[in-house]
Amino acid sequence: MRVYVSSDIEGVAGVVNAEHQNPGAGIEYQRARRLMTEEVNAAARAAFDAGASAVVVNDAHGPNTNVLIEDLDERVQLITGRPKALHMVHGIDEGFDAALFLGYHARPGTAEAILDHAYLGSVVDTLRLGEREQGEFSLNAMAAGVFGVPVVMASGDDKLAAEVAELLPATEVAVVKWAASRTAARTLTPATARVTIASAVTRALRSLPAACLLRPPEPPVTLEVRFVRTSQADHAALLPGSERLDGRTVRYVGDDYLEVFRACRALLLLGSSAA
Ligand SMILES: [Zn+2]
Repeated sequence: MRVYVSSDIEGVAGVVNAEHQNPGAGIEYQRARRLMTEEVNAAARAAFDAGASAVVVNDAHGPNTNVLIEDLDERVQLITGRPKALHMVHGIDEGFDAALFLGYHARPGTAEAILDHAYLGSVVDTLRLGEREQGEFSLNAMAAGVFGVPVVMASGDDKLAAEVAELLPATEVAVVKWAASRTAARTLTPATARVTIASAVTRALRSLPAACLLRPPEPPVTLEVRFVRTSQADHAALLPGSERLDGRTVRYVGDDYLEVFRACRALLLLGSSAA
C-alpha cells in the first residue's frame, strides 16, 4: 500500500493566525512548522503501522519548504520546494492507494473558520466550478480523483470537517480545533492532536473506502475565479484561453480537469503579480 500526503499548515492544532502562517513572521511561524512536521510524522507512522510500504509527503503550504526534513520519520519521502505542476497534489499518480490531506482549512467565505481562503488569500475572493463554490480540499481531491486516488482522511478544524462531510461523507476527519472566528479557536494540544490524527489514519487505511474518491465534473469543466481586486483580474485575463466576465471575474473552460486545475494556478499567479 502506497500512501500520498498533502500537507498544509492552517489546519494544524495550535495554528490560528497569520503569524503562524507566514514564513516572514518569525518565531510563531517557526513554532507552527514544527507542529506541522510532527502532525505529518504522526500520520506517516500510523500509515506504516497499518502496512504502508511507502509514504510520500508533499509540502503544500506557502513556500512549500515548511516541513523540517531533519525531523521527519526516516521512512518518509518528502516533495519540497516550488513551483510544481500539480501544486498541492504534485507527485500523485495511479500508483497510490490512498491520499491524506493534513492541516487543511475551509474554503473562502466560510464563517468562523480558521484562516479560510483558497491558495492565495489576498488574490482569490471565490473559486467556482460550475455553480459550486470550491476550496483547496475539493479542488485538490478532484485532482487526486483523476488518478483514481481516494482521499480517505483529512485533518483540520471543525469547519473543514463540515466541508469534507458534505463532499465525501466516508472520509475520516481528525478535528484538532474548533474555530471561534477566523483567527481564534479552542484547540487540542499537539500531543493529543497527533493521537487523534493517528487514530483517524488507522481507521481510514483499514477500510480504504472507494466512496472517498471525488470525481471531477463531466467536461466541459468551467472554472470561474473572482479576484479580490480588478487589477488582479486584468493580469489574470492575459492567460490565453481565459475570458473576462466582469470587473473581478475571469473564466477558463477546458475539457480536461487537470488542464483547468493548472490554468487555475496560472490565473492566480498572474493575478498575484498585479501591483
Ligand atoms: Zn496553506
